[in-house]
Amino acid sequence: MIEALNRDDSSNRLRRIVIVGGGSAGWMAAAALSQVTRIPIVLIESDAIGTVGVGEATIPQIRTFNRALGIDERNFVRETNGSFKLGIRFVGWNGDGSDYIHAFGQVGRGTGVIPFHHLWLRAQAAGLAGPFGDYALNDVAARAGKMAMPGGGMPAQGTNMPWAYHFDASLYAAFLRRLSEQRGVQRIEGKIVDVAVDRERQSIGSITLEDGQSIEGDFFVDCSGFRALLISQLDGSDMQDWSHWLPCDSAQAVPCQSDRPLSPFTTSTAHKAGWQWHIPLQSRVGNGVVYCRAFMSDEEARDQLLANIDGPPDAEPRQIRFTTGTRRKHWVGNCLAVGLSAGFLEPLESTSIHLIQYSVARLMAMLPRRDVDPAIVDAFNHEISQQWARIRDFLILHYWANGRVGEEFWDACRTMDLPASLTEKIDQFRAAGHFTRQDEELFTQVGWSQVFLGQGIVPNSWHPLADEMSEIELRDLLSSIKSQHGRMTSAMPTHGEFVDAFIHH
Ligand code: FAD
Repeated sequence: MIEALNRDDSSNRLRRIVIVGGGSAGWMAAAALSQVTRIPIVLIESDAIGTVGVGEATIPQIRTFNRALGIDERNFVRETNGSFKLGIRFVGWNGDGSDYIHAFGQVGRGTGVIPFHHLWLRAQAAGLAGPFGDYALNDVAARAGKMAMPGGGMPAQGTNMPWAYHFDASLYAAFLRRLSEQRGVQRIEGKIVDVAVDRERQSIGSITLEDGQSIEGDFFVDCSGFRALLISQLDGSDMQDWSHWLPCDSAQAVPCQSDRPLSPFTTSTAHKAGWQWHIPLQSRVGNGVVYCRAFMSDEEARDQLLANIDGPPDAEPRQIRFTTGTRRKHWVGNCLAVGLSAGFLEPLESTSIHLIQYSVARLMAMLPRRDVDPAIVDAFNHEISQQWARIRDFLILHYWANGRVGEEFWDACRTMDLPASLTEKIDQFRAAGHFTRQDEELFTQVGWSQVFLGQGIVPNSWHPLADEMSEIELRDLLSSIKSQHGRMTSAMPTHGEFVDAFIHH
């Protein structure tokens, strides 16, 4: 039973934070907040409702989150059925037979003034260069099925490849739950049936559970998933629908067994009206088909999914519906939406868990007192909306710059109107390979250039400083990068061997 809040407390400090929902978002918020504050935290979740049950691929930033929580990496990989991820392989996006990797980390070596891709463009025009990915260590290692890290307990420890993880999201939530409960977070199992909203102040007062229990709080973190139980009741939190840019609205997910070697990357394979993911974990593969119902029926999607998995499915495919978009305001009054309650960008670049991490980190940086200052809320909402919009642009690029001519869905994607912010980026890159990073956006020039080039957007020219290098110097540079990557990769263990040694170390 949760006590009423202390009315005599005049400190203006938050007396209780209430987190609604125990999916990845809820437990990430609980673990992070309980690490930095002694403010009592209560988390409510309903086993009967359950979680969305997907979300297995991440980007390297999650390592910062885990490190900040003091999580031991071996323990984490062991307990979440985890594996390592060096990038995402995109198959068929630029037409049948096309295949590129958006690899984490650097591609090639720039001159210090201009990024490598300018040198590569010039070399390619002169017939001196191989595919762009040949110059990214993560790409070369991923294709060879290799993995290594400094201190990883296997050969080739000196390599410096950024990595992320594939894991079982429900095991990650359970892992964070244990951590949070050890740090004093109180978990309540129960279904919320009512939310008391102060309409005038636009804030939440309390929530009521099915068993009649009422829980008060000073600050509420809405992690209730697509239901958005709390935030959807507050003014200004209406959804901005982005489905005219990101038109997929359905997914079906199913795990399966696999005899294939454990690959250190996510695969995204385009199909007639969307794409399919392949995410290898230690003891199974996560698969899912993402599609647009206007162009593909649920039955067709199911057939597409089951025909393209490594082995017998472990369960019946799970159907998920969504609308891509985000809330105009994620934070209103004393309520912040985190995770699916805040919106959904489809999982093409594995950004959802990162956006949870980002919101939680910004909340900690801007943690309010009881009289929440609107200036802080406005600043938070502005920052978050920029983050979401820039990631949105990056995702749209994959759809718009497709090479699947003659397929209705993809033809429609190629002719859609783009947000001005994306058109600007495409124009700059097309003109001379330029890139301007906006608003602290997540993806850097390296990520964008891999996707631009991978999807067939080749600049008309390159930076004039790339002409300063002689042809011989250029040839030597490219071949030295290639041979260095080849040497490093051949000394690395396979990803399967690496994971085995890592978790048993
Ligand atoms: P949920 O997991 O839905 O949790 C909601 C919680 O709220 C549950 O605990 C539920 O019990 C509780 N709740 C709801 N209503 C009530 C109530 N009335 N009373 C009490 N409790 C309640 N992200 C990635 O980063 N990488 C990926 O590869 C990836 N793949 C995805 C694929 C698909 C098809 C989809 C749809 C999403 C994917 N995501 C991915 C996103 C990721 O799944 C979510 O961001 C993440 O799981 C967070 O979900 P959540 O915690 O916000 O919501």
